[in-house]
Amino acid sequence: MAANPQEIRPETLFIDGRWRKAVSGLMRDIVDPFDQSLLAKVAEGDRLDAREALSAARRAFDESDWPHLPGTARGRSVAALGHAIAKDRENLARIESRDTGKTLEESRWDIDDVAEVFAFYAGLAGESHDESVPQPSPGRSSRLVREPAGVCGLICPWNYPLLQAAWKVAPALAAGCTLVIKPSELTPMSTIRLAELAEEVGVPRGVFNLVLGPGATVGAELAENAAVDMVSFTGGLVTGRQVMRSAATTVKRVALELGGKNPHLVFADADLKAALETVMNGVFFHAGQICSAGTRLLVEDTIYDQFTAALRDRMARIRLGGAFDPNTRMGPLISAEHRAKVEAAVTAGSREGARLVLGGTRPDDPALGRGFFFLPTLFLDCRSEMRIVQEEVFGPVITVERFSDEAEAVRLANDTIYGLAAGFWTRDEARIDRISRLLRFGTVWINSFNVYFAAAPWGGFRQSGVGRELGRAGLEEYTEVKHIFRDLEPHPVEWF
Ligand code: NDP
Repeated sequence: MAANPQEIRPETLFIDGRWRKAVSGLMRDIVDPFDQSLLAKVAEGDRLDAREALSAARRAFDESDWPHLPGTARGRSVAALGHAIAKDRENLARIESRDTGKTLEESRWDIDDVAEVFAFYAGLAGESHDESVPQPSPGRSSRLVREPAGVCGLICPWNYPLLQAAWKVAPALAAGCTLVIKPSELTPMSTIRLAELAEEVGVPRGVFNLVLGPGATVGAELAENAAVDMVSFTGGLVTGRQVMRSAATTVKRVALELGGKNPHLVFADADLKAALETVMNGVFFHAGQICSAGTRLLVEDTIYDQFTAALRDRMARIRLGGAFDPNTRMGPLISAEHRAKVEAAVTAGSREGARLVLGGTRPDDPALGRGFFFLPTLFLDCRSEMRIVQEEVFGPVITVERFSDEAEAVRLANDTIYGLAAGFWTRDEARIDRISRLLRFGTVWINSFNVYFAAAPWGGFRQSGVGRELGRAGLEEYTEVKHIFRDLEPHPVEWF
C-alpha cells in the first residue's frame, strides 16, 4: 500500500495468509478528518469473517510449529517486521496522518516508537524466561516455564492505530501466540500496511490475521469466541467493561488498557517555564486524544493566577491546520461524532459552573470548515466533583483546580475512578519522594509528562485497566506459567 491510500485494492482482510473481501461483500468509506475527503474503501467484515480468522489462528497455534519454535527464531521474525516498519517509515507516517489527522511529525515519532517496540520484543524473545523453584526436600526438581497463551484477539482504538497495535502484536508474536487483530473501523489503514509487511517478512500463514469491521460484531466476536485464549483491548471504559463481560463466558484471559483523567500538579517551587511547556505538550498533542493526556491541571494557589494567565496566552496561539502543513501544531478530532461528544462535555462543564475562559467552540476559519476541528479549551476555577473534571473528554480541553498544600494536592489528584498516569512539578527532593509514592497511578512522571518507552511497563490502576503493556510485563501478559515437577527418586506411599 502506498502513501496515497486511495490506491489500495478492495481485498483488505488478511486471513490464513490470503487477502480477501468480506464474506458479505460490504465496503466502508475511510475519510480524512481534515476535510472529509475519501481516503479508501475497505472491506467491512462481520462475525463470519472473524470466525474464519479465528479458525485460522487456532489451526496455526494447534498444528504449526510456530508456538514451539525457539524464542530466537521467533525473535528474528519480530526483528524483521521491526526493520520493515523502520524502512517504510515515511510511507507509514503519511498513511497514519491522513487516517487520524495528526501532524506528520507526530506520526513520524509514532512510527519510530513502533519500530523500537518490535526491536525490544525481538530481543526479549531470545532470552530464557524459565525459573527453578527451591525445593523443601531433596530428590525433587521443580521449574517454571512460560508458554504462549494461545490464540489472541487484539482490539485497537483510533488515536494511535499503529502504536497501539504494536504494543500488542510485537509481544504476542515474541511469546509464540497467534492472533487476529481488529483496528478501529475509523483508522484501519496503517494496520492493513502492517499485515502487508508481516506477509512480506514471512510471518507464517495463519499466525497474523487481520479483520476489519465494527466493534459491535467483529470486536464482540473476538471477546466472546471460545477459540480465543486471550483478548487484549485498548479503548474506552464502557467498551472495556463490555469486553470483560463477554470474555467471562469462556473465562479467557483479559488485558484492558482503558481511559484516564490524568492529574498534572504544579507546585510553586517548580521550574515554571519548563512546567508550562510540558503542560501544553501533555494535553494538546493529537488534539488531546491521548489516554494519558494531562487534562486535569492542579496549580498551587500562590502561582495560580500567573500560571493560568501564561497558559491561556500560549493556548490562544496554538495553530490549527492540516497534518502536512509544517506550521500546524494541532489537527482535527477524529470524527463528527467524537467532536459532538467533546462539545457536549464542554456545554455540561459550563453549566455546572466551571469558568470557560478560552475556546469551547469550533474555529471560524473557513479553511478548516470541512474538518472536525475544535479550539483549545480552558476551564478555570474547577472543583473536583465536577463531571468535566472527573470524566474523560478525549479532546483539547483542560480543567484547572487550585490547591493550597501538598496534602490537598495529593488528595485531589487521587480523587478519580481512573489510575493511568500522573505528573508533578517541584524542586523539593523530600516532596518528590513522598508524592511519587502517594499517587495511585500506573505511571508517575516527575518534572516531566507523557514519556513512554518500550522497556517501561504501561497500564492503569483502578478503572484504567487490567494488566500491563510494554516492558517485560508486556511479554508475560501473552504467556501462561507452567510448573513442571519431577520426583527424582519416586517411592510408593502405600496409603491405599
Ligand atoms: P472504543 O472503546 O469505542 O473502541 C475501541 C475499540 O473497541 C475499537 O476497535 C472498537 O471498534 C472496539 N469495540 C467497540 N465496541 C466493542 C464491543 N462491544 N466489543 C469489542 N470491541 C468493541 O474506544 P475508541 O476507539 O473511541 O478510543 C478512545 C478510548 O480509548 C478513550 O477512552 C481512551 O482513553 C482509550 N484509550 C486508552 C489507551 C490506553 O493505553 N489506556 C490508549 C488509547 C485509547 P470500532 O471503533 O470499529 O467500533
